[in-house]
Amino acid sequence: MIEVVEPATEQVMAEVPRAGVEETDAAVAAAKAAFGEWRAVAPGDRATLLRRLADAIEARAEELTRLEARNAGKPISDSRAEIAMVIESFRYYAGAPERLTGKTIPVAGGVDMTFHEPLGVVGLITPWNFPLVIASWKVAPALAAGNTIVLKPAELTPLTALELERIAPQAGIPEGVVNVVAGPGSVCGQRLVEHPDVAKIAFTGSTEVGRGIAAGAAQTIKRVTLELGGKSANVIFADADLEAAAAAAPLAVFGNAGQDCCARSRILVERSGMDEFMAALERAVTEMRVGDPLSEETEMGPLISAGQRETVASYVPDEAPVAFRGSAPDGPGFWYPPTVLAPVSNSDRAAAEEIFGPVACVIPFEDEAEGVRLANDTIYGLSGSIWTRDGARALRVAREIETGVLSINSNSSVRVATPFGGFKQSGVGRELGPDALDHYTNVKNVFYATEES
Ligand code: NDP
Repeated sequence: MIEVVEPATEQVMAEVPRAGVEETDAAVAAAKAAFGEWRAVAPGDRATLLRRLADAIEARAEELTRLEARNAGKPISDSRAEIAMVIESFRYYAGAPERLTGKTIPVAGGVDMTFHEPLGVVGLITPWNFPLVIASWKVAPALAAGNTIVLKPAELTPLTALELERIAPQAGIPEGVVNVVAGPGSVCGQRLVEHPDVAKIAFTGSTEVGRGIAAGAAQTIKRVTLELGGKSANVIFADADLEAAAAAAPLAVFGNAGQDCCARSRILVERSGMDEFMAALERAVTEMRVGDPLSEETEMGPLISAGQRETVASYVPDEAPVAFRGSAPDGPGFWYPPTVLAPVSNSDRAAAEEIFGPVACVIPFEDEAEGVRLANDTIYGLSGSIWTRDGARALRVAREIETGVLSINSNSSVRVATPFGGFKQSGVGRELGPDALDHYTNVKNVFYATEES
């Protein structure tokens, strides 16, 4: 059995059977058996079923919100927004089956046309930081394109994925189309990667595991999309609205207790604006409400586990340049206070590695060229922000920063309707928006001769 722990109390909140290779193989077999029926569902009917699934999730939204908040230790207001995004993802991709149009291509001697065919059984491997919402970014386009799925959630947070497996048939999705295996990544995840009947793996998690998945998938030439780590830069120029940039910066790195691949954990500040920015940042960080995830007021909860807290603490040794910290409750729970290190060099360990916890590094820069150079001086390239009142500079810098998702005078990264994914070692492929569908289909080209050759 998997003992599922509530990070805010350290108590076991549920026990679920631990799947292994046998259960994974059974799930793949069920998905394979259901594929023919699911791909044959008429596009309009598949769209209706996805809308019904969205409605069924919506009917249980508050229950799922609470379950996710407790299991992942995230503020209930964040959890509510995530479940709303799950529903929105299914509604958005319900529009896809009837819009998966191919092309006709002018050629000699006949008619040439293309089709977007489903891949078959796809394996979806997801992390513990945004459990159901990251799953929905994969499940919704995969189903819309006519694939069947085996979803493997992280062992630490399997509960909402298991609920989704129950809800899907109640909404009318045929049995075998949506399968969930809750078990260890090194067993169930690896089996999905190796399995000859799995056509594709879509993975979100660490760069290290992603590297192994890419290598493993090569054995059977599986399609792979990887959404991996990040060390994103929040580049703040002295001419920006520094109050606004400082007010927004804490949640951009301490949201979800920093356990966010999009965390703007390197705050790059133009030196001439440093004093004003730091004074405003200190006020914002010390005012953050850290505590019970189930309180509507809470902005930051605990870390996911004792192990994660130990890892995070290792980036803040006694001699670390702690500029200021927020608060954290005493007592049970994997708490760690929001912590700002300043000034930090971009090559320091805390600035170079993904901490995945509430630790921000403030790094000064002299001018635009240095700001861009530092922002790009990382193996990662997932997200980032630019704060300036100079519109031309904002666009110039946006084109120069090597990252997949950028925002200007804002720290938002993710919208259902727009593509999301990384440059460099932050991953390959895109989720969300219209682009995700390309990653769940094969293009087939058909030539129909109209003249004798
Ligand atoms: P992992 O990359 O280990 O886990 C992500 C998912 O992959 C989980 O479902 C995990 O299963 C599964 N997995 C683990 N090993 C394998 C394997 N050999 N084959 C197939 N699947 C596997 O992330 P962690 O949860 O261990 O977190 C470690 C670090 O990863 C974090 O500190 C952070 O830096 C980064 N991370 C990044 C995320 C992102 O959103 N980009 C999300 C989560 C983590 P299980 O956990 O059940 O064993």
